[in-house]
Amino acid sequence: MNATSHQHLRGELRTDEPMARHTSWRVGGPADRFYRPVDADDLAAFLRSLSADESLFWLGLGSNLLVRDGGIRGAVVSTQGVLDGLEQVDANTVRAEAGVACAKVARFCARRDLVGAEFLAGIPGTMGGALAMNAGAFGGETWNLVVAVETLDRGGAHHTRAPAEYEVGYRSVRGPENEYFLAAHLHVEPGDGEASASRIKGLLERRNATQPIGLPSCGSVFRNPEGDHAARLIEAAGLKGVCIGGACVSEKHANFIINTGDATASDIEALIELVWRTVQKEYGVHLQPEVRIVGESQ
Ligand SMILES: Cc1cc2nc3c(=O)[nH]c(=O)nc-3n(C[C@H](O)[C@H](O)[C@H](O)COP(=O)(O)OP(=O)(O)OC[C@H]3O[C@@H](n4cnc5c(N)ncnc54)[C@H](O)[C@@H]3O)c2cc1C
Repeated sequence: MNATSHQHLRGELRTDEPMARHTSWRVGGPADRFYRPVDADDLAAFLRSLSADESLFWLGLGSNLLVRDGGIRGAVVSTQGVLDGLEQVDANTVRAEAGVACAKVARFCARRDLVGAEFLAGIPGTMGGALAMNAGAFGGETWNLVVAVETLDRGGAHHTRAPAEYEVGYRSVRGPENEYFLAAHLHVEPGDGEASASRIKGLLERRNATQPIGLPSCGSVFRNPEGDHAARLIEAAGLKGVCIGGACVSEKHANFIINTGDATASDIEALIELVWRTVQKEYGVHLQPEVRIVGESQ
């Protein structure tokens, strides 16, 4: 890793930064240029400095990403821990910037006797990633709370947008091209914070009992097909415990793939393909990946 500073930029620019350091699967080749801004203005300045033909990728906590072993060409922007503003705006609204961990938003609301955001405690990513994915858990979905989003476009200009400007579905969000999330304004209700905190505790206990938490994974690899569960189909196809290289289908939750220590991105991708082909052959179901697969093969 080479760290350099750029004349008018205040953040840190690294070259050939291993993405394995920034993904929860702990795999992924180098990003050509990796920028960690100091704040939103600095980030806007970095975006303005990009040449028109340089590709751009925004990274949250890397908890839903398979970065291939050849890495990412162009620039990667890291928001985690940087865009970290979190405040109560009025009786019913919380503003959370893109780099804030979802779990922090859930706890912040409970402490202020605001209810409705408990499910965010179970999503191990940033608010920006949750907006991009419409992340959800335990019956809650990110965009059910959104009253407005702030975005930055590729030219560094700031926009405030309404949910109606986005097409939102199950783990899918489509909005204006070349815009990235800077912050979410979330609707919450005044309520009982203690009850909210104990609901969060209960949700986390439930997930610890059913998911291989603590091992390098990306959560659910496939979306649930309509009316069914990807994990049920994968288990029924006899794939629990099946491995390619260092990547294995979890024994605890069949829709999780674990890096047992020395997996490469290509091991994981090959296992994803094997699972997809087997479920398709056995049950005629075309599973759709929930994880985002990016970058180049080696
Ligand atoms: C153990 C475990 C359990 C999980 N459980 C759940 C679950 O219950 N429910 C669920 O929905 N997900 C779950 N996930 C997946 C993951 O946590 C979510 O998808 C999360 O929202 C991803 O956030 P992130 O910050 O890690 O995003 P990343 O993985 O860094 O990025 C994901 C996508 O979002 C884009 N993105 C990130 N930030 C921005 C931004 N500011 N603007 C525009 N695009 C952006 C990226 O470019 C990428 O395409 C789980 C993951 C793990 C490891």
